[in-house]
Amino acid sequence: MLLPDYHIHSARCGHARGEMREYVEKALALGLPGIGFADHIPMYWLKEQERDRGIAMSLEDLTEYVAEVEKLRLAYPDIPIKLGIEADYVPGFELELTKILDQYPFDYVLGSVHFINGWGFDNPAYLYKYEYMNIDDLYCQYFNLLQQAAQSRLFNVMAHPDLIKKFGYRPRFDLRELYEQTACVFAEASVAVEINTAGLRVPAQEIYPALGLLQACRKYAVPVTTGSDAHEPGLVGYAFDNIEPMLDEAGYTKVLILGL
Ligand SMILES: [Zn+2]
Ligand SMILES: [Zn+2]
Repeated sequence: MLLPDYHIHSARCGHARGEMREYVEKALALGLPGIGFADHIPMYWLKEQERDRGIAMSLEDLTEYVAEVEKLRLAYPDIPIKLGIEADYVPGFELELTKILDQYPFDYVLGSVHFINGWGFDNPAYLYKYEYMNIDDLYCQYFNLLQQAAQSRLFNVMAHPDLIKKFGYRPRFDLRELYEQTACVFAEASVAVEINTAGLRVPAQEIYPALGLLQACRKYAVPVTTGSDAHEPGLVGYAFDNIEPMLDEAGYTKVLILGL
């Protein structure tokens, strides 16, 4: 099964490489049935001067980003190219996010939790902070935020839904209950869940989400999307061969086509 890749970045975020057309060309070479760009939204919850240009594009860049995706669509009619965005969830800033999202014709919005109390826990630059953290508490906080994000109704798909495992820090308790709760919240909020292969490229060495979470999502009939989180053209469709066995094991027979 050839799967679409709905989680592709661009150099505008400050930590990805290559031209956007190179990502499209890689997808064409692989024969993917569709792709979607979902670059990092500007850090809308921070003051302009506090925004880290190595993490996300600027507000001015966002207009160009949207225009470039629209141009690529015309240039590459043989592959459906969707306009997505990866938007951080930061509680208390829902209105600010809404204002940005309303300005552009996004086909979908990936919702991500990358920050816990202002700490960019998935950023290697702040890795040392794990030493001071209670990992069990962190997992609880992370999944609470993720559920809140889904309930905000600002997102269509919850991206890399157990990103908190990125650096291989694992909790001591059984996650089954949190998975169950989270999947139930996803279903109530009508969001989809992303199967993201980037977890295989980091110490977690496991696709996001873990099979247990995916199985819980299946139980509650939460739809799934697929993405590589490519930050360079060569990573489009990365390790997608690993997705199908996981879908089978969780009982999914199809994935969601976005932006229809
Ligand atoms: Zn990124
Ligand atoms: Zn992300």
